[in-house]
Amino acid sequence: MPRKSAQAFAEACNYLPGGVNSPVRAFGGVDTGPLFIGHALGSKIYDIDGNEYIDYVGSWGPMILGHAHPAVIKAIGTAAKKGTSFGAPTLAETALAEKIIAAFDSIEKVRLVNSGTEAVMTAIRLARAYTKKDLVIKMAGCYHGHSDSLLVVGGSGLAENATASSAGVPDSIAGLTIVIPYNDIDAAKVAFDIRKGQIAAVLVEPVAANMGVVPPVDGYLQTLRNLCDQNEALLIFDEVITGFRLAAGGAQELFGVRADITCLGKIIGGGLPAAAFGGRTDIMDMLAPAGAVYQAGTLAGNPIATAAANATLDILTGSPKRSKERLGTPEKDCYQRLESSAALLEAGLANAARDAGIAVMINRVGSIMSCFFTDRPVRNFADVQSTNIKQFKRFFAEMLEQGVYLAPSAYEAMFVSLAHSQYDIEKTIEAAQNSFHKIKN
Ligand SMILES: *Cc1c(COP(=O)(O)O)cnc(C)c1O
Repeated sequence: MPRKSAQAFAEACNYLPGGVNSPVRAFGGVDTGPLFIGHALGSKIYDIDGNEYIDYVGSWGPMILGHAHPAVIKAIGTAAKKGTSFGAPTLAETALAEKIIAAFDSIEKVRLVNSGTEAVMTAIRLARAYTKKDLVIKMAGCYHGHSDSLLVVGGSGLAENATASSAGVPDSIAGLTIVIPYNDIDAAKVAFDIRKGQIAAVLVEPVAANMGVVPPVDGYLQTLRNLCDQNEALLIFDEVITGFRLAAGGAQELFGVRADITCLGKIIGGGLPAAAFGGRTDIMDMLAPAGAVYQAGTLAGNPIATAAANATLDILTGSPKRSKERLGTPEKDCYQRLESSAALLEAGLANAARDAGIAVMINRVGSIMSCFFTDRPVRNFADVQSTNIKQFKRFFAEMLEQGVYLAPSAYEAMFVSLAHSQYDIEKTIEAAQNSFHKIKN
């Protein structure tokens, strides 16, 4: 571990619990301490010892344009000079809402919040109010932020009440959630059967990306849609990672299945704290002050975060025609470019592993992917848990040594950005060739 990072971590541990402000940053999933970051630009990130790495964490998803994109930085500067927070409405919030609504067929109105956690937490409140039911179905291995009712693990039996997975969460709250395996159509049917008339919502990452990347099996999302319709429950897609990542319209556009409520975050903040949730007008108008479901935020729709968001979405999707202010020039064929960079990387990793005689299973959807150390397909959380985590840790350490910054956990995705050049990808494949060979022995 680089010297200055090691010192910085030891120092930070005196003042911050575990030395960090979000657990995964502590590198608990690998056998080394965390890198402290000095700066980042484009596809590269630099630690405080001055080492350069090709970055596939991308702040865990937001940095789809790469780090410190000039248009985003300019938009942030311009906004900051006009004042950093007013606690009053601004034109930029309406402009951002318009862009989100233009991208997602299923969204007619949207509320801006500060984090993905808030977006999902409130989406559930809204679903409960709308359906007048209490229970929420969630899938094992999907992550939806750290609100009480979602820090849960499944009970032992079918459709049993979940129990808390974090200290401090009362089982009475955890019990309002039902946890079933991802990609398990029968389990979803059984849960609706056993809990007839009690399910307010099904909450799912349409492409799971917090247990590594696990795509939905054929027909899975459509079945969830049908079950919700038959049982008067709402379908909530947590597109905090997939929104504006897999396509402008997220996984919904890719798979052709509409959600009732969609949660967005990460990319829509352009690297600043912003998130959102949206859906049909009849659902969204239940929110205060239009309706009786309370939700609020001092810094919601913050002008600097909103400026970064507007610039990012302008570049990814182009601004709607009547938008007066353009903060970024649309990049051509963003999603095609992401697809071909990521496909190149996938093929290179697969070849490198095969040449070294290491069994891997690569799951990829667009620009998110995971290289699981296993020879079996990975379709749910149990599959991920049965992969060779020890081998992943060694691979991670070798890649870092060779200047490639992967997520420090076997349960996280790789994020390819528009800033990754063909040269970056080739360098990464070269590093992987070396790394696979080294961990072989
Ligand atoms: C990151 C994430 C969240 C939580 O977002 P925060 O901004 O970290 O609160 C929720 N859902 C998914 C799918 C995520 O990946």
